[in-house]
Amino acid sequence: MQKIPYEKPVINRINAGVPDKFGMKSRIQPITQIDDVTVRDLVQQYGSPLYVLSEKTIRNTYKKAVDAFKTRYPKVQFAWSYKTNYLNAVCQVFHQEGSWAEVVSGFEYEKAIANGVPGEKIIFNGPDKTRKDLTVAIDNGSLIHIDHLDEFYEIASIVKNSDKKAKVAIRINLDAGIYPQWFRFGFNFENGEAWNAINKIMQTPGFELQGLHTHIGTYIISPQAYGIATTKLAQLTVRIHHKYNHHIQYIDMGGGFASKNTLKGAYLPGTDTCPGFDDYAEHITEALHNSDIPYDHMPTLFLETGRALIDDAGFLLGSVIANKRLPDGRKALIIDIGINLLFTSFWYEHNIVPAQHTQLDMENTTIYGPLCMNIDIIREAINFPVMEKGEHVVINRIGAYNMTQWLQFINYRPKVVMIDTKGNTHIVREEETSETMNQLDRVPEHLKSVNNDH
Ligand SMILES: *Cc1c(COP(=O)(O)O)cnc(C)c1O
Repeated sequence: MQKIPYEKPVINRINAGVPDKFGMKSRIQPITQIDDVTVRDLVQQYGSPLYVLSEKTIRNTYKKAVDAFKTRYPKVQFAWSYKTNYLNAVCQVFHQEGSWAEVVSGFEYEKAIANGVPGEKIIFNGPDKTRKDLTVAIDNGSLIHIDHLDEFYEIASIVKNSDKKAKVAIRINLDAGIYPQWFRFGFNFENGEAWNAINKIMQTPGFELQGLHTHIGTYIISPQAYGIATTKLAQLTVRIHHKYNHHIQYIDMGGGFASKNTLKGAYLPGTDTCPGFDDYAEHITEALHNSDIPYDHMPTLFLETGRALIDDAGFLLGSVIANKRLPDGRKALIIDIGINLLFTSFWYEHNIVPAQHTQLDMENTTIYGPLCMNIDIIREAINFPVMEKGEHVVINRIGAYNMTQWLQFINYRPKVVMIDTKGNTHIVREEETSETMNQLDRVPEHLKSVNNDH
């Protein structure tokens, strides 16, 4: 008689119908389609994993943001934060909607020019602008946001022998009640550094001080902070006017509005804690209206909103590779989406759901990616239904930073597809192939032959 192999017993709590910590039904709502295109069709046509962007959502979100500000303040201009998502198709949607470009490197600057953005509609931020970058930006009449004094001196030496003036603003870091405070970029408000930089610029030929800029941080869930920051920039605007009779043309409040994603460790879901565009707009425009800036010289309000404009429009589709039972009894699911494709999984508890209706029974599950790396974890612990190999999952709200901070690692990066406003799908970036991967590799002559004798 043959001995039956031993199988370790597992005790599972049945979670079906059990309310979550808010007393709500803990049912997972599947995402079966995006803008009326089914997830199954998308994966069948374009493969898995797959990034999907909704053009409709981008445009609707952008219009909502613009409306929130323009109904409160007449002069508003958005500039698309390239580093948040610089797929050319995405940038073009924003530019078609009227957005300028906000770039933080020579590479992004070149991208904006290639996308057809006129030089004078490019805002050039960041601590690393080379002499060549600065020369081109001055030539094109772009708005250069100075980060430190060495950059100021570099510009001064470029414009000294030129008939072109540099159109500049300074980036200002300040205490808006957000801690830890970001003070590594720009000039400090409270210790007088910003005022010092302003005086240097105002007293040096070749500069035209057009604006004041701040970017107080990212994923800021208190709109009040923007009110405090705006008030401080408005104070400098008034002070410049008093001393130099010079009118600041724009105040740029940067980005940083939160998206509806949930931060790791947060008690409440991001969908409950994320302020609306109206909340931010109210605090910023109120601070401008209540400032001492002369009424006939109110500055244009620039905004460089990134994640809040694009996160909702991005989806990552994937498939189940395997189910596993860990030695401690926990359930594990392996999917084909790794952290290399989901950089934001380092700080967000991403919402991940099946792409089809599943059984009601759920179990505490760890969701792993496909990489042969211990840290490749998409969700540490999530109540998840049973899914079979080959079934599809959807991670939503991934439009911001994942398609720029993705890592080429172990696997080829997959296609990105955009669903247009009519429901047609377009590839907006191809997947990588062995050809793209080897394009930049060079093997020195003496390493080209391999001795297979040993
Ligand atoms: C990254 C960045 C933005 C966009 O920030 P979000 O938090 O995504 O809105 C805007 N301005 C500057 C200067 C940035 O560096």
